Amino acid sequence: MFDLVHQWVIRQLTLGEFSSPRAVVTKAAFMAAKIAIFAYLLNIVGHLILVALGLLPYPLGPALVVATMLTPPVSFIVAVIAYSVVGLAIYDLGMSRQRFEMLSRTDMLSGLMNRRAFLDTFEQARGHVALIVFDIDRFKSINDALGHKAGDDVIVRVAQCFTDVLGEGATVARIGGEEFAVLLSGPRSDGALDVAEAIRQTVEDLGFEVAGRRISVSVSAGVSEGVAGLGFSELFSGADRALYLAKASGRNRIVHAKQLVEASLDASYPADGHAEASASRLSA
Ligand code: GH3
Ligand code: MG
Ligand code: MG
Repeated sequence: MFDLVHQWVIRQLTLGEFSSPRAVVTKAAFMAAKIAIFAYLLNIVGHLILVALGLLPYPLGPALVVATMLTPPVSFIVAVIAYSVVGLAIYDLGMSRQRFEMLSRTDMLSGLMNRRAFLDTFEQARGHVALIVFDIDRFKSINDALGHKAGDDVIVRVAQCFTDVLGEGATVARIGGEEFAVLLSGPRSDGALDVAEAIRQTVEDLGFEVAGRRISVSVSAGVSEGVAGLGFSELFSGADRALYLAKASGRNRIVHAKQLVEASLDASYPADGHAEASASRLSA
């Protein structure tokens, strides 16, 4: 019995989470109305007990009039203020937590997802998926020639190409320095090569002006497909090997993991870092 009452009181008093300050005030008013009714009933019962014990120092009639006029409005106002203050603090905390969570899942330079958020999204994927791993070609030479800041600008511009081609809300992340990953699931995963090619072309077509100098930037990518249940490592390994082959075949191109089998690349990856021998076999 005590437990039931305890649960009921907690349910009545719990503020929960709020979607807006307006929701806080609405809930505060609702709670304050309940408290005002409860306080009023307590007041009446208190008066009746005092009458029964012969302890009420003034007549019951006027006492009840005063109790009726004062208790509900006073307790309502006090409760609405108290609940609003606490509710708004809870709302602010909730917003800060959401902002913090968003920041912890975002790559600060590019504004895309970070690796952690990408892996979380992959974990939730089901069925057939395609993973595309991109890497900016000869990025070190951009850094060396134009400086780190210019390199950062290139990363930001390339990141924008992903959003332009894939649209907002796509699963695309900056997973390393100048490496990006795209996850396609459902029917879209069948067109992974076309998507990768569209992104490659968009980057190639970008007129890059960095630090007053015109530079050409390109990306290479590796594509692998399979069921999400295979796990990220398995799919990433295929896409990464394909990416190596794309680099070794001349860069600024897309290679699908199934081409690795045709090129019998597996034996030579990644011992020499670049799959030059297999690349020549592939392009032959
Ligand atoms: P490849 O075509 O084979 O990919 O050659 P690469 O020069 O792009 O590859 P490499 O791995 O040799 O160089 C990558 C460089 O990216 C090295 C590193 O200093 C630079 N880098 C990594 N993270 C950042 C970053 O956040 N900003 C800038 N500006 N440079 C970065
Ligand atoms: Mg790289
Ligand atoms: Mg690179």
